[in-house]
Amino acid sequence: MSITVTLPDGKPLELADGATGADAAAAIGAGLARAALAVQVSSGIGDGSAGADGQATPGELRDLARPLPDGASIAIVTNKSGDAALSLIRHDAAHVLATAVLQLYPGVKISIGPSIENGFYYDFEFPDGVSISEADFAAIEEHMRAHIKSAEPFERVDIPVAEARERFVAEAQDYKVELIDDLVAAADANHPLDTVSLYTNGPFTDLCRGPHAPSTASVGAFKLQSVAGAYWRGDSTRTMLTRIYGTAFFSKQDLEDYLERLEQALARDHRKIGRELGLFFFSELSPGSPFWTPAGMVIWNGLTELWRAENRKRGYREVSTPILYDAELWKQSGHWEKYRDNMYFTEVEERPMGLKPMNCPAHIQIYKEQRRSYRELPIRYSEAGLVHRHEPSGVLHGLLRVRHITQDDAHIFCTEEQVQDEVVQCLRFGFSIYALFGFQVRLELSTRPDQRIGSDELWDRAEGALEGALRAEGLQFDINAGDGAFYGPKIDLHMTDSIGRSWQLGTVQLDYSMPERFDLKYTGADNAEHRPVMIHRALLGSFERFIGILIEHYAGELPLWLAPVQAIVLTVSDRVRAYAESVLAELTARGIRAELDDRDESIGRKVREAELKKIPFMLVVGGREADEQTVSVREHGAQRAAQDGSGSGQASDGAQTLSLDAFQALLEAAGGRIPVG
Ligand SMILES: [Zn+2]
Ligand SMILES: [Zn+2]
Repeated sequence: MSITVTLPDGKPLELADGATGADAAAAIGAGLARAALAVQVSSGIGDGSAGADGQATPGELRDLARPLPDGASIAIVTNKSGDAALSLIRHDAAHVLATAVLQLYPGVKISIGPSIENGFYYDFEFPDGVSISEADFAAIEEHMRAHIKSAEPFERVDIPVAEARERFVAEAQDYKVELIDDLVAAADANHPLDTVSLYTNGPFTDLCRGPHAPSTASVGAFKLQSVAGAYWRGDSTRTMLTRIYGTAFFSKQDLEDYLERLEQALARDHRKIGRELGLFFFSELSPGSPFWTPAGMVIWNGLTELWRAENRKRGYREVSTPILYDAELWKQSGHWEKYRDNMYFTEVEERPMGLKPMNCPAHIQIYKEQRRSYRELPIRYSEAGLVHRHEPSGVLHGLLRVRHITQDDAHIFCTEEQVQDEVVQCLRFGFSIYALFGFQVRLELSTRPDQRIGSDELWDRAEGALEGALRAEGLQFDINAGDGAFYGPKIDLHMTDSIGRSWQLGTVQLDYSMPERFDLKYTGADNAEHRPVMIHRALLGSFERFIGILIEHYAGELPLWLAPVQAIVLTVSDRVRAYAESVLAELTARGIRAELDDRDESIGRKVREAELKKIPFMLVVGGREADEQTVSVREHGAQRAAQDGSGSGQASDGAQTLSLDAFQALLEAAGGRIPVG
C-alpha cells in the first residue's frame, strides 16, 4: 500500500501508507528533513486519524509526526517559510514559558498561550501572595533557555476527553478543565468530540490543538517583554489573570533587529512627538478627535495646499458637502443596512439623521443635480471630506485610528470605456505624491469576494480593467483574492516607511453598485441613457492618519515645506534685539515661517532648545551680524560647537554668514516651498 501527495512544484511523491510529514521531508532530501518544522496540508481528504479534526482543511499546518492523507497537496514548512513558521515557534515558546513558570511557581494555574502578531503570550493565575513583574523575567528566561537547549521533543497524544479531564482535575488546573467542558458543550452529533490532543515537552503537558515544531530547539531566540493583567476569557466578571508577553525568532540577529525596530518605533511615536512639538492633542471631551494647535495646522494646511493644487492640475473639481443627512439617504446607499453600527445618529425636528461615514452618497447628490451628457465625463470631484466613524474606544490610537476623519476623497464618474485610463491616472497621481515623501509603494489587487453583488460578467470586466491598468503601466502587484469590496474590485496602495513598516494609504475602487442604487445616468452619443461607473479613490487616506504616519516616518523632522517653524532667530545679546526683530519681520514678509528667541539666555542653550524642537534653521545674530545686516545660519542636526557668547559667523562651527536674500535662496533650494509643479 502506498499514498501519493503533491509537492509545491506540482510533482507527485509516492510514500508508504501511513507516511508522515517527516517521512515526506526525508524522501525529498536530508537537508530538508533536518530543516523541517511542520507540514502544510491542503485539500486532503479524511486521514482516518480520528479526533475532532479528521478533515484536513485547506492549508492546515500540521505536526511532522502525523500521517499524511492520501492525495493531499503538501508543503514542508521550514524557518524560511515566513509568518507561518514564526507563529509556529512562537506558540512553541509559549509552551516553554509555561514550562518554566510551572517549575518556578508551583501551584500556578495555566490558562491559554497562543502566538500573536509579533510574539506570544501565556496567561497564568499565580498562587495567592505571588505577583510577577519584569524583574522576574531573567529567572524565567534562564529556565526557558535550559528547556530550549535540551531540545525537548513536542509529543502529541490524542486521548479520550474524560481521561484528559481527569488529568487536569487531578492537577487542579481549573482553566483547562473549563476549556475541556466548553469543547464538550460545543460538540454536537455532527461533530462529536471523542478525543482531545495533549502536547508534552519535558516536564510540561498542555491541552493544545497544536501544531508544534518537532522540539523546543526551534526557538532560536526569544525575549520576555512585558506583563499585564487580562481577564479570563476577556470577561471582566471573571478572574484577572497575569499575562506574560514575549517574542521569539529563529535567530538572535532577527530578534535584535526586531527589538531595535521596536525601540525606533517607540522613539518615533507620533503621540509623543506631537506632544513634544505641540502639534495636536486629544481630550476626553471628544474622544478620538484631535485638537490641532497653530503649529499642527501648518502641517495640515501645507498638505491641503498640495492636495488642492495637485487635484486641480489633474482635472478634479473641489466640492464641499454637509456632514449630517436624513437617514433615508443612508437607507438608499446601503450604509443603514451594512454600516449603521459604525455611524452616529441623532434626531433633528423629529427626523432621524446620521453623520456621514463616507462622502460617496454626497458626491452622488452633486452628480444627480443636473442631467449629464457623455461629453462631461469623466467628472472628477474632490473633497477634503469630514466623515465620522464610530471606533470603539479600545482601538483608538492617536492620529492613526480616530473617529473624526478628514479623507482626501475623490469620486470619478465615467463611462465603462474610460475606466482603465482613469485608474491609470489615479495610480500615477498616487505615485507622484508618495515620491515626495520617499515612500516605497506596493500594490495589491483585491478581487471578487464570496459575498458580492453584480454578475460574473460585470466582475470579469471590472477586474480586467484594474488588472489592465496595472499591466499597461508595467506595475508589479500582488493579488489579494476575494478581498474586494462587495460592490467591486480595488487596488490598494501600501507604503513602506523609513523603518520598514507597511501602511495602507491609498485605494482605487471600482463601483457598479452605487450608480445602480442611486439610478445615476448620462446621455450617450447615441442619445440613449447609460449608467456611469463610479471610482472611489483616496491617496493619503485621511489627513489625520497621514500626518501621524509622516511624523513617525520622519521621526518628527518633517520636510522643510511642512515644518511648523522653518527658522528661528536667536539673539546673542540684548544689544541686538532690535536687529533681530527686524530680521523676524523681514522673514515673515518673505513668507518664511519664523520665530524669535530673544530671551536672556545663553546662545548655547537657545541652540540646544531649538535643536530639540527640530527647527530646521537657526539664525544667530550678534553684533557683527547686526553691523553687516546678515545672519549666521546653522542647520538642525549639523555638527556644531556652540559656545556661550562666542560670537558668531565662525565658519569652523558649521555656521555660514548669509544675507537674508542668500538665506531665502538657501531655504528654497532646500525645499522650503510647497512642491507643486
Ligand atoms: Zn499550545
Ligand atoms: Zn467613496
